[in-house]
Amino acid sequence: MDDNIFEKLKILADAAKYDVSCVSSGVDRKNNKVGSIGNASASGICHTWSSDGRCISLLKILLTNDCIYDCMYCMNRATNNVKRATFTPEEVAELTIEFYRRNYIEGLFLSSAVNISPNHTMENIYKTLLLLRTKYNFGGYVHVKVIPGADPEIIRRAGFLADRMSVNIELPTRESLHLLAPQKKAERLLLPMNQIKSETQINQEERKKYKNAKTFVPGGQSTQLIIGATNDPDSTILNLSQSLYDKVNMKRVFFSAYIPVISSPNLPALSTAPPLKREHRLYQADWLMRFYKFKSDELFTETERNLDLEFDPKLTWAFRNIDRFPIEVNKASYDDLLRIPGFGVLTAERIVKERKGALLSYDSLKKMRTALNRAKYFITVNGKYYGGVGVDPEYIKSDIRQKEIQEQLNLFQLL
Ligand code: SF4
Repeated sequence: MDDNIFEKLKILADAAKYDVSCVSSGVDRKNNKVGSIGNASASGICHTWSSDGRCISLLKILLTNDCIYDCMYCMNRATNNVKRATFTPEEVAELTIEFYRRNYIEGLFLSSAVNISPNHTMENIYKTLLLLRTKYNFGGYVHVKVIPGADPEIIRRAGFLADRMSVNIELPTRESLHLLAPQKKAERLLLPMNQIKSETQINQEERKKYKNAKTFVPGGQSTQLIIGATNDPDSTILNLSQSLYDKVNMKRVFFSAYIPVISSPNLPALSTAPPLKREHRLYQADWLMRFYKFKSDELFTETERNLDLEFDPKLTWAFRNIDRFPIEVNKASYDDLLRIPGFGVLTAERIVKERKGALLSYDSLKKMRTALNRAKYFITVNGKYYGGVGVDPEYIKSDIRQKEIQEQLNLFQLL
């Protein structure tokens, strides 16, 4: 690899590490073309995660870090004194193919700063995709960033070549955008999301009529929100996520704990630790919304607008709604089973299926490998309660705390 490309790669791979919206999921791009390489289906794009949670299975780079915008929280902002670099579309395509042939990667995650103009940047992203799919016949997974403000026609064309697209919102309110990223406007960010949603719907109809019609963004769209750069509470972040899932068919919302690298009176002090636990709780709450039929507003109260850091969101919800418990597992609806801490989707499905044959016992739940250490406080099995003194949040909290301390002590004894 020539030195110039290597230098650009160092700069632009490093600059991409703050973007976490790079998971490929549910893509089955078939690659039946003779002579083409890469296949997101057969090779099974697998995700590996670095110790700090970043996705590393894809070649993850920026097309450029030379940005015309000046978002205060961003290393690549126009007024920051960092080394700048810009790839050409041909360079990105060649790098991807080189890395793919050497088995280093299975796909590409291409993000970008806004260079010269949104249109110019999006056009170069599109050109990269076109080269990969036509000149190099690359059938592997490609996730590209959409640049808000770019011509919808370029976004549309890119969407027929990409597996996934994402538009990063970064900050959850107009006020926060105004404070830290004044060149970004909420309406402008939402436009390409709505476009991807409607193009996808049109495409689905076309594909019903014409079997060979190309697929538009088969992996759907995702976005990223930064956590902790502003004072926005978790309720604001999750309400926005809920509305993106409901209104623009967002496939995933990713949360990225803000790492203080920039000194500014509008940002957390450089000594502030990244809110990793908070990020984790947001992912747990997001999981409840996507798979457990929770709505974001159920996870908060008038006064508590942030998720509890000690107990996970499902447990916290159960403590606040303790009058709904204990739930009898042999009678509860599927939806009620999903609400029991310790019960996952598979457990709830299995209970509904197996109790048709015979009433379940506590032992049969154990055999299902149910997390009874949590669930036992919230259920009865054939009328019998196994959780100790009673369904009392304070007792349950103290029991869980004691058990966790005991588990940690046991761990130390093993060392
Ligand atoms: S537009 Fe993106 S790359 Fe440019 S300063 Fe803002 S966050 Fe950074």
